[in-house]
Amino acid sequence: MPKPSEQSILVIDDDDALRRSIVAYLQDSGFQVYEASGGQEGLTLFERLRPDLVLTDLMMPELDGLGVVTAIRHRSPDTPVVIISGNGSVSYAIETVRQGAWDYITKPIHDFAALEQVIAKINDRLLDIATTRRQQALLEQSVADHARRLQQLGSLDPLTGLPMRQQLRQQFDTIVAHANRPKDLFVMLLDLDHLKAVNKALGHECGDQLLVETANRLKEHKPATATVGRLGADQFVVMITDCNEVHGCIQNVRKVLAPPFHLQGSELFITACLGIAVFPHDGESLDTLLQHANAALSQAKLLGVNKYAFYSAELGERLRERMSRESGLHRALERNEFFLEYQPKVKADSGAICGAEALLRWKPLHHAGLIPPIEFIPILEETGMIVEVGRWVLETACRQLISWQIPDSLPLQVSVNISAVQFHTGDLPSMVADVLAATGIAPHCLCLELTESIIMQDSAQTIATLQKLRDLGVQLSLDDFGTGYASLNYLQRMPLSELKIDRSFVKDLPDDKNAVAIVKSVLSLAESLSLTVVAEGVENREQAILLAEQGCHQLQGFHFSRPLSADHFQDLLQRTT
Ligand code: C2E
Ligand code: MG
Ligand code: MG
Repeated sequence: MPKPSEQSILVIDDDDALRRSIVAYLQDSGFQVYEASGGQEGLTLFERLRPDLVLTDLMMPELDGLGVVTAIRHRSPDTPVVIISGNGSVSYAIETVRQGAWDYITKPIHDFAALEQVIAKINDRLLDIATTRRQQALLEQSVADHARRLQQLGSLDPLTGLPMRQQLRQQFDTIVAHANRPKDLFVMLLDLDHLKAVNKALGHECGDQLLVETANRLKEHKPATATVGRLGADQFVVMITDCNEVHGCIQNVRKVLAPPFHLQGSELFITACLGIAVFPHDGESLDTLLQHANAALSQAKLLGVNKYAFYSAELGERLRERMSRESGLHRALERNEFFLEYQPKVKADSGAICGAEALLRWKPLHHAGLIPPIEFIPILEETGMIVEVGRWVLETACRQLISWQIPDSLPLQVSVNISAVQFHTGDLPSMVADVLAATGIAPHCLCLELTESIIMQDSAQTIATLQKLRDLGVQLSLDDFGTGYASLNYLQRMPLSELKIDRSFVKDLPDDKNAVAIVKSVLSLAESLSLTVVAEGVENREQAILLAEQGCHQLQGFHFSRPLSADHFQDLLQRTT
């Protein structure tokens, strides 16, 4: 039985004295009680508070007890209303019961015995209602669960009504089983190019609308032998049998999407990338075909928007390799497969070592050699693992620097590469602050190398993050300068301390006049912004001399040293200082 304190009663009576005594009695009995001095006020309170029970006087000016009963029955048929009736109006009270009142008690209420009885009955009644409600809720829950399970099984997509994976699989099996010698069957995976942007710019409701409209267009205009389904997010599947001309089908999809979409007053032009796998050549089950179509889709997306690609064996090989790299990388940190090499940076005038760039290396346990950074760093970035690995790099490099610092000599600086993903996800400044605190390295001895793609996002947030980093006291360097589009304008706004001229410019020194001119102008630009300039990829004496003559501050490259293990770097340091 529900405890009284969980139940609330609304008492409506225009007789103040009587109402207060009823209220006091009910409160003493442990109920939560609300009171109103008239029918209208009572209904307003009822709307707001939804009490479990209403006790209302019958004879009231304006809205009387019968009015209250009718209104409450209308709004909440389950809520019991009990009438408090005067002696002279019992027949009217009985009429209210006919109209839906639950019971009535008569005044004068001397000892509350009648009220107590009513409340006892009401308690039972409330209990019944609660039980019924609970059962109803359970029933509704199980119906909803069932529907959800059906959806999870992939029957029908609740948003677009299109078949999902499970049902597509059945249809695929039926098609394959019924064709004696199945002709080619194309599985086309279609991925909208702009859904994320639409969601971001116009909201998810608009994104949903876009999906529904796309589904409708695909359904309406599909060839007779095609089946359209949805795989989730922004991906649709079109399975086409007896298709003599697959390129015609591709054109068809493009034609279907070509007319503008009208979403919340905006006119949008939507394109899609397609990945295509062919039964039985590229796989015999729908799952394999979808997996291969997905690989082709990734290939298409690399080409840009509105592109398509067919699955190929070579693509499959690359896919397998990429997947095994990715799973290898997932374990690389805990297996200690990463290590750092350090490439010296030297002062252009004296050739003295003034710092080192930490470069990440990966040697998988059962792999003969190293995997080049260009092959695994993009995977770390795409999967977000770079955040964790990047922290490890930073911490390892800082600890290493501490162990090298040779007292009374030029303070060494260690440079660490920071990827755009690290910069834009998580809280880079607080990660850096943590590492500074944990390792005890002096902030000015740490230099973070950022790429132009980071700086180019000239947003308030980018500048704020850069400023926070500078406030920590660390140096900021712009790596691979010249390969992107960083203009003077951008540079002026960014709190940088160093520019690294990309080695593609250094490579053609000293003979190529263009390269010389570029290096000169970078140097004068840097001077006007008071930035230190480092030239990367210095491979010979001539380059070193020219760069030094032109006022470049620091040099880095194979001419001075290849990247070295920590031990070899230390040997070199000891030999040269
Ligand atoms: P980067 O930051 O521009 O690093 C310099 C690259 O140039 C290194 O390649 C280095 O070995 C190479 N190099 C140095 N001197 C010469 C030279 O004289 N000639 C030639 N041809 N090359 C030279 P590496 O080690 O293969 O690294 C490639 C890139 O991978 C780096 O370019 C950097 O963008 C990235 N990377 C390396 N370690 C990390 C890391 O810990 N985190 C992140 N996010 N990226 C890293
Ligand atoms: Mg670098
Ligand atoms: Mg570089």
